[in-house]
Amino acid sequence: MRTITTITELRRALALQREQGKRIGFVPTMGALHDGHLSLVRQSKQQLDVTVVSVFVNPTQFGPNEDFSRYPRTLDADAGLLVDEDVEFLFLPSVEEMYPPGNATRIHVGQLGSIFEGAIRPGHFDGVATVVTLLFNAVQPDTAYFGQKDLQQVAVIRQLVRDLAFPIEIKIGATIREPDGLAMSSRNRYLSVREREESLALSKTLFLVRDLIHKGASIDEAKIIGNREFQRISPSGRLDYLAVVDIETFREVTSFEREDRPEWPSAIIIAAQIGSTRLIDNVLI
Ligand code: AMP
Repeated sequence: MRTITTITELRRALALQREQGKRIGFVPTMGALHDGHLSLVRQSKQQLDVTVVSVFVNPTQFGPNEDFSRYPRTLDADAGLLVDEDVEFLFLPSVEEMYPPGNATRIHVGQLGSIFEGAIRPGHFDGVATVVTLLFNAVQPDTAYFGQKDLQQVAVIRQLVRDLAFPIEIKIGATIREPDGLAMSSRNRYLSVREREESLALSKTLFLVRDLIHKGASIDEAKIIGNREFQRISPSGRLDYLAVVDIETFREVTSFEREDRPEWPSAIIIAAQIGSTRLIDNVLI
């Protein structure tokens, strides 16, 4: 694996690969890698000739009171995992490389960026769209991989690629979970033993609400029971939202009457604060 820290050097190295007819797969991450990230890496390794993984904790997607400075940074372990997966290139830019003095341009994603996660984390998706644009321009991949775990991010990226005509195929990897159901996340390592138990409230609530809807409950009924289930498993947790949304627009779906059926498949999304850790999860319906 070759580790590269500048955009110029990365472009030069990847141009050589492209000249040899190699197709490039790209997996952007913020590091603290786990099996969720590695499942995307494995798809890229299988489907393309050369895989680039970026590890960059992007300051522009964190709010002023969020966990940017304490976000886990485990670079040696990450590099070891990527070597084991036979990744060809690790892109490891500094903040100054990505945002040199004087940089000012930002992507604004519009409505999709201001609801649900975007409402709670103002500016978050603009930061995501900005860094993904920068990374796409640096890597110029044929295919880029994102996780369903961050479903609203997936919608934002799809819109970004459509709106700005990036010639890049976007592929989505399924959410990888711990054996007990908790969606893997770099932030899970913040959880105390007690909080780790309470964190099951997210996945268990999602699975229950999905079962209820499948059995014919209305969305409202299922959400009321889901709220109760969440509080039962996590008495100290704060549920930020539990909603059924169209996965493309993130517009809320309130019933499955035929005339209301969304054009796209829908998902149940959940976000909660467990102790000092904010967790999100979702399941498709
Ligand atoms: P992050 O490092 O949190 O920015 O995540 C990098 C990529 O990995 C994003 O596309 C995430 O959606 C994806 N990802 C994170 N957790 C999981 C998971 N549990 N299963 C699948 N993909 C994931």
